[in-house]
Amino acid sequence: MDGWQPDVNVLDRSPIEKRKRLRSWREITGITLHQTGIHGFAASAWPRATCHLGVHSDGRVYWVHPLRSLIWASDAFNRDTVAIEVAGNFRGDESVPTSFWAGGGGPSQLSEAMIAGLRRAIRFIVDEAQRGGGAISHIFAHRQAIRGKSLCPGQQIWRAGGVWARETLHLSSGGPGYTRCDGLPIPPAWDGVAPSAQGPAASFDVSCSASELDQEFPDPDEENCCLPDEPK
Ligand SMILES: [Zn+2]
Repeated sequence: MDGWQPDVNVLDRSPIEKRKRLRSWREITGITLHQTGIHGFAASAWPRATCHLGVHSDGRVYWVHPLRSLIWASDAFNRDTVAIEVAGNFRGDESVPTSFWAGGGGPSQLSEAMIAGLRRAIRFIVDEAQRGGGAISHIFAHRQAIRGKSLCPGQQIWRAGGVWARETLHLSSGGPGYTRCDGLPIPPAWDGVAPSAQGPAASFDVSCSASELDQEFPDPDEENCCLPDEPK
């Protein structure tokens, strides 16, 4: 990965108003995974996405905002994480055919090229943090930070990115059941937990818009909506 840069750089085409301030690498300890919620997400839309890196449906990684910029991408994970969006409208649970946002088309399937792109994006953030004197220790799902994003990023992306990063890069998702604010825990199916070990069925709100294009949160203090438990 030495010297690798994202495949497509749109940093000078994304709105700088979305960059609230520049964080130090010491403030940034995690990565949050997302899906755009739109099947057939257009490559031309990446500058409008509120994320640091985007994985397109062809597997290329787009660099949308500087990794250290604070942007309103991940709700209660805004302050201390870097956001990766994956293009598509993915199911919450692959064993539940209807568990995707009805307004976003699809459902989408995660290709081998996209999985490779997602993992390059994760490694790039980990490497950049290390170069900057920080350390990435955590990887989260957006749904852990806000109830209204129960489908984000969905089972396929979580398995290919979150579970992979835990096993390969030894990152943590905060410990069993970890959430912030009114967020929801990672479903057992996402983590590949055996059915007998599963707790209550995971909830997915498919009526909620999963689209995060142009997303802005109105209250700049929203990240202070609660005092989160320290992740493990
Ligand atoms: Zn999200």
